[in-house]
Amino acid sequence: MTQREIQRIIKEAGNIRISASKEEKWTAEYLAKEAEKLGAKARVEAFDVPVTTINSAKLIAGGREIPCKGYELCGSGRVEAPLVYIADFDPISLSKVKGKIVLSDSYPSTFTYHDMLDAGAVGFITYDGDVKWRDNDIDLRELRGYMAQGRKALGVNINAKEAVKLVKNLPMDVVIEIDQTEGMGKSWNTIAEIPGECDEWITMSAHLDSRPLAKGVWDNLTGCLTLLNTLEMAAKTGKHHYGLRCVFVGSEERGLLGSKAYVKDHEAELDKIALNVNVDMIGSIMGKVMCCVNAEESAVAYLNGFAAEKGFPVRAMQRVMSSDSSSFADKGVPAYSFGKMAPHNQAVIHSRYDDGSTVSAKQIQIDADFISEFTLKLADAAICPVPRKIPEKIKKELDEYFFRKRKDA
Ligand SMILES: [Zn+2]
Repeated sequence: MTQREIQRIIKEAGNIRISASKEEKWTAEYLAKEAEKLGAKARVEAFDVPVTTINSAKLIAGGREIPCKGYELCGSGRVEAPLVYIADFDPISLSKVKGKIVLSDSYPSTFTYHDMLDAGAVGFITYDGDVKWRDNDIDLRELRGYMAQGRKALGVNINAKEAVKLVKNLPMDVVIEIDQTEGMGKSWNTIAEIPGECDEWITMSAHLDSRPLAKGVWDNLTGCLTLLNTLEMAAKTGKHHYGLRCVFVGSEERGLLGSKAYVKDHEAELDKIALNVNVDMIGSIMGKVMCCVNAEESAVAYLNGFAAEKGFPVRAMQRVMSSDSSSFADKGVPAYSFGKMAPHNQAVIHSRYDDGSTVSAKQIQIDADFISEFTLKLADAAICPVPRKIPEKIKKELDEYFFRKRKDA
């Protein structure tokens, strides 16, 4: 794909496109059209997701109203209690939360959320942003259904600068008041295919949605561009042995909802998928391409060999990545999951700073070409060189990632 084409697509689609919004739907349809222009057959598939409208959210701390955003899907009501700050969800910290509203450094996970409620917490406050940044942005967070499992508690998110002020001024009482209307809505996956000589597929995936504050050019329009780049290369280079199926995934940012829906709705076809190649963030101006391999050790060596041949450095390792590859691997489809780690002072995600300024068309082209060529090498293989087997080590990590099992202490 030319740098000019990359720039055009960033200009047209590099806008905020959160799960279940009309902008997300627009992007799903846009990517289908772009894929068709390149010679693929494309369609958009809807799936159900929980949605909500926050009518009002208020945090009053020590009599002062603090700017906040209510947690989506955490329920409605009012709670008043003393504030407690905990740096972690360890047993000693949790021994201090009974009857309190908890301000924590990290977002509670499935296990720590229930630990916190079991310990008697009556509400929670989280924060994001950065004390050094000039903005006072507050990200919109949600109490994910698989995390709460029907057990709701009122929560708000605030900016890091306010969180520091609260902790400095302890002790104090706080009030959380939220009113929201919860229901169901639609999100969208786009599927674009170029059939091969056999009836099996190499499936690529990249999420198309963004976080509420982010234009999501790096995270993850660059992944979508990699898929389009591969479709273009596949169409130009003639028939390949395996078919190429690209899944542009909706609602990844809410806990892989789109890829979970895809593998569920297409469960019967999964044994025809030899491999998944997932792309989540490439093309940052600085930084290093990584690849989390959800397959046998030999698949790591295979990628390392290709990287050496191309003179393209990749840090490949056998581990789970927090992206759509996990939904495929969890159903037995081995995966290569590519991403780029940029230094935190060059590029950050999930904020207003993921606006296109941290990537370049030139670097996107270089990174995408490498991944596309690697994918097509696999698509051209007589038999896929990656065994269709998920190692025990990865199965264990998936159990932990999907909160079926606690991580060993
Ligand atoms: Zn992402």
